[in-house]
Amino acid sequence: MERKEKQKVVIAGGGTAGWMVAAGLSRTLGNLLDIKLVESDEIATVGVGEATIPSLVLFHRLLEINEQEFMAATQGTFKLGIAFDNWRELNHDYIHSFGTTGKDHWTAGFQHFWMKGRERGLAGDYGDYCLELKAAQENRFAHLPRIGMNYAYHIDAGLYAKFLRKFSEPLGVQRIEGKIVEVTTDPGSGDIRSIKLGSGTEIEGDLFIDCTGFRGLLIGQTLKVDYNDWSHWLFADSAVAAQTESTGDAVPYVRCTARDSGWQWRIPLQHRVGNGMVYCSRYISDEQARQTLLENVKGALLTEPRVIKFRPGQRNVHWKNNCIAVGLSSGFIEPLESTSIHLIQRAIIRLLQLFPQHGINPVDVAEFNQQMNAELEHIRDFIVLHYHVTNREDTPFWRACRDMEIPESLRHRIDLFRESGRVFRGPNELFAENSWIQVMLGQGITPKQHHPSADLMGDAELSRFLGDIKTTVDRTVAQLPSHQAYVEQYCKAPDTRTAAAR
Ligand SMILES: Cc1cc2nc3c(=O)[nH]c(=O)nc-3n(C[C@H](O)[C@H](O)[C@H](O)COP(=O)(O)OP(=O)(O)OC[C@H]3O[C@@H](n4cnc5c(N)ncnc54)[C@H](O)[C@@H]3O)c2cc1C
Repeated sequence: MERKEKQKVVIAGGGTAGWMVAAGLSRTLGNLLDIKLVESDEIATVGVGEATIPSLVLFHRLLEINEQEFMAATQGTFKLGIAFDNWRELNHDYIHSFGTTGKDHWTAGFQHFWMKGRERGLAGDYGDYCLELKAAQENRFAHLPRIGMNYAYHIDAGLYAKFLRKFSEPLGVQRIEGKIVEVTTDPGSGDIRSIKLGSGTEIEGDLFIDCTGFRGLLIGQTLKVDYNDWSHWLFADSAVAAQTESTGDAVPYVRCTARDSGWQWRIPLQHRVGNGMVYCSRYISDEQARQTLLENVKGALLTEPRVIKFRPGQRNVHWKNNCIAVGLSSGFIEPLESTSIHLIQRAIIRLLQLFPQHGINPVDVAEFNQQMNAELEHIRDFIVLHYHVTNREDTPFWRACRDMEIPESLRHRIDLFRESGRVFRGPNELFAENSWIQVMLGQGITPKQHHPSADLMGDAELSRFLGDIKTTVDRTVAQLPSHQAYVEQYCKAPDTRTAAAR
């Protein structure tokens, strides 16, 4: 019988992106592929990227990753949402949580019934009707398989790459240590033929996955794919990151606190806390940002603050010839809603769906690029919303955010919600209606009217409807254990420093 040669896939780079690609390909198409991953101990990974969104839970299920092992190995904690402090105005806060709020009617989302309830003095806060949000506020967590708790993870980025390496190597992925110093292309087709390492070793491939981070060694430096810069909408171009000791129990959410010229994150893990400031260098120097971060972290520093520069935007195409950019090499939208790791897994799933088994088909490439582009633009709009819809005018940065021209697609969404409380989710859009509603309300947009369906309910019926949902949420939350206790019994990491730090 004729033995078909395995297709050679070369993954350049071994950060979160590289190892997620290795895990995804080896678990699914592993038998058909010869997968090599090249990474260099000389070139550090970006070392951040520790907050995720619920799609990672699904990705791990597809890969049949054991959640308890994964969480213990990555010092993981659970995430139910993001707390936004000082975004709408100083001393105001709200939570964008995972999950759903209330119950929708097929003609109109829950927000319309809630708005009517507010008008009639019958409704509490919008968040009172969301299990995940209330659980986050009370620092509680459990899986609740019957009801369905929507959650994601906080993970140690370095440990996650190590965990995925351990997962992928037994599935046949061959890791090669070395620095890529040269990339050879075919003069006719422009395809990448091979990469050459400092040691002189040459690695040939049929398909190359560029996971070399911001460098974009293959997609940018070799194939010259240009970059679509979004800095006129996303002003932040820098971050300074530092790790600190935990000072208390890990909370099940990320805290994002708006500062004068950017914002600060706080991500609680089992053994430490990840902190950082994202800022715009036109308004604040690296040193000032570093100072702001240091003045606002809790707990002793475990690492010196480290500045990271980036350019908001995306490659004009993510897939060119036989090279697919995944991770930071393909573009970067700042981490406000923890979307980068999600985009890595979306790229992997799209690659699997469009896998070039019998040669590369331009129409598959176009489909991949179109889908990635649409998803990134949608995420971009969602992030710009947080900055633009604000009452803050206390600093030049916030005034510039308020005054900027926003993308037309976002303008339409804001106008639709402001006028009629309506929100629709399009195909390939990550953020569902409830995310948009939570952030638009949180940032201070009050719709002018609700849907007439809500008027079909009299006060007594509406009050009962809202009250029943709230009672169910409150009762469920009251039965949950504390997040810290749940983590300790479910997935405690070895040698956790949390206890010592407390
Ligand atoms: C400030 C900041 C905060 C972030 N926070 C979040 C977050 O909370 N949630 C989230 O989802 N995402 C976040 N991200 C994004 C997240 O960090 C990345 O998506 C993720 O880490 C993937 O990075 P990467 O693997 O593409 O690149 P990297 O981690 O930079 O890895 C690049 C790899 O390429 C290798 N390499 C490079 N050049 C060569 C060469 N010449 N030869 C051999 N190997 C080479 C390196 O050794 C390394 O292994 C954040 C990003 C930043 C900048």
